[in-house]
Amino acid sequence: MGIAEKVKCEGCGAPLDLKAGEVVITCEYCGTAFNIASGEDFFIKHSIIPCNYDETKCREVVKHWMASGGIKPTNLPAASKITDMGLTFLPFYVVHTNVTTIYDGVFTRTGGQKPRNGQMHREYYWKILGRRGSKFPTKEYEIPLRGKEDFNLSKIPPTAKYLNAEFDEKDAEDLARVEIQDHQKFLLSQQIDQFNKFDNDFETEDIEFVHAPIWRIDYTYNKGDYQVLVDATTGEVIRGDIPPPDASVGGFFSDLKKSIFG
Ligand SMILES: [Zn+2]
Repeated sequence: MGIAEKVKCEGCGAPLDLKAGEVVITCEYCGTAFNIASGEDFFIKHSIIPCNYDETKCREVVKHWMASGGIKPTNLPAASKITDMGLTFLPFYVVHTNVTTIYDGVFTRTGGQKPRNGQMHREYYWKILGRRGSKFPTKEYEIPLRGKEDFNLSKIPPTAKYLNAEFDEKDAEDLARVEIQDHQKFLLSQQIDQFNKFDNDFETEDIEFVHAPIWRIDYTYNKGDYQVLVDATTGEVIRGDIPPPDASVGGFFSDLKKSIFG
C-alpha cells in the first residue's frame, strides 16, 4: 500500500493522517488502531496510562528537582528559565515473555578453569519504545502500568500529542528477544568468562500496546540548553540534564563550598 494512497479508518471512516515510517496508526477521531503495513486489524490490547501532572504541577516537579541534589549548581532554580514544555503520549510495547537460557562455559578470571553449566529461567515484562532512532531512555523509565485503562482519546489532553508506532508487535517481540538475550548474557557474565553454549528458548505470554505520557521540558542556564523528562503519571524525573557548575566566580566558589566544604 503506497503511503500517498488515501487510507480511511476502518473504525469511523475518517481519512488517516499518515506519516512516513509509521506502521501502527491510531485514528485521531475514534481511537481505533490498526496495522498499515499488513493491512490487518491491530488485535493486541491497546491501553493508555492517564496523565496526572498538568503543566503547573510539572513545573513544580522541575523546580523541586533543580533545587535538590548536591551536584547541581546552587543557583540553578533562580538562574534557569523554562523555554518550552511539551506533553507527548509515547507508544510502547510491553512484551511479557519467559526465557530459558541453556548455558555452558568456563569461569577463568581467578586463574583456574572452572566449568559452569545449567539453565536460567526468567520472566520479563520487557518494554520496547515503538519509535526508531529515539534517544528516549527506555531503560530508566518504569511504565506505571498499574494505572492503565483501555485506550480512549478522551484521556489525551487537547494540548498533548500522541505518536504512532513505527513498527508492529512482531518486530517489537524480535527486538525484545535480542535485548533480553543480551541481558541474560550480562547476568551470566558474573559467573562465566567464556561461553561454549548460550541458547535461549522464549515463550511469549502476550504483548500489549500502551501509550504513556511524558513531559519534555526545555530550559536554559548560563546560555546552555538543557532538557528534563518527567513521567506525567507519577511526577518522577526520568532523566534531567545537569549543567556544569556556574563558571562565574561567585557561582563557582559557592558550588565548591557546597560540594567539598559542606
Ligand atoms: Zn476512526
